[in-house]
Amino acid sequence: MKTIGFLKRGSAVAAVAGAVVLGGCAAVQTTDSGTVGGDRKQYMSSLVSEQALMQEAQQQYHGILSQAKAQGALDVNTQQTARVRAITQRLIAQVGVFRPDAARWNWEVHVLNSDEVNAWCMPGGKIAVYSGMINQLQLSDAELAAVIGHEMAHALREHAREQVSQQMAAGVGLSVLSAITGSSATADLGGQLTKVMFTLPNSRTHETEADRMGVELAARAGYDPRAAITLWQKMGSLGGGGAPPEFLSTHPSASSRTADLTQISQQVMPLYEAAKK
Ligand SMILES: [Zn+2]
Repeated sequence: MKTIGFLKRGSAVAAVAGAVVLGGCAAVQTTDSGTVGGDRKQYMSSLVSEQALMQEAQQQYHGILSQAKAQGALDVNTQQTARVRAITQRLIAQVGVFRPDAARWNWEVHVLNSDEVNAWCMPGGKIAVYSGMINQLQLSDAELAAVIGHEMAHALREHAREQVSQQMAAGVGLSVLSAITGSSATADLGGQLTKVMFTLPNSRTHETEADRMGVELAARAGYDPRAAITLWQKMGSLGGGGAPPEFLSTHPSASSRTADLTQISQQVMPLYEAAKK
């Protein structure tokens, strides 16, 4: 099997320093805190609206799907696709705990046939799971729920918008034209979204939030929350041979991850027990 590149790397946009208007920044609360208690204030640039980013995500997602389809790599294994869909549906049914509006998002999930160990969820709930992750790590249903829940949590917390906002604040990704004409700065949202989704590592803070919310989503959906621990152990054991998996370059592992997941999974065990009944 060959590895298929579905992802178009972001087009290089010259960084504009100096005389551009950066626009304001507002502190927002993207989600309710749930049982795991996430309540960090997030700063979003006025140049990066939730709607605009969701629209960009939808376009890029459908571009990736078309490319995968053309390469005969979209939802190839019917049984595997059905399994991923079923798990994802159970997780989606729980998102209202963190943000009621997300229950009405147009969630989509597809399996990309590739040796790559990877999974992601773009803004607005556009999910991809790579067959390489499921096969190489031999994921149980609960471990799959852990990884999909983690990715969904990144989207629920709008981590991509936050990261793009930070890029904008640093003057990266603003259009050259607007700097020359002196008009208010406009943003290359598409290029920035590609970059934060597929290249830049998530911060430790984002990873911890996604871990915690993901574990709660899984527990509420009736999946053993402790599976997140074995998932990351399996992931870690992959690094040995060649290059580390794609997934680990965008989801850096904190040394405290296992301890945190152990504690959080204990905290949500009652939710799991209740969901099982
Ligand atoms: Zn992550």
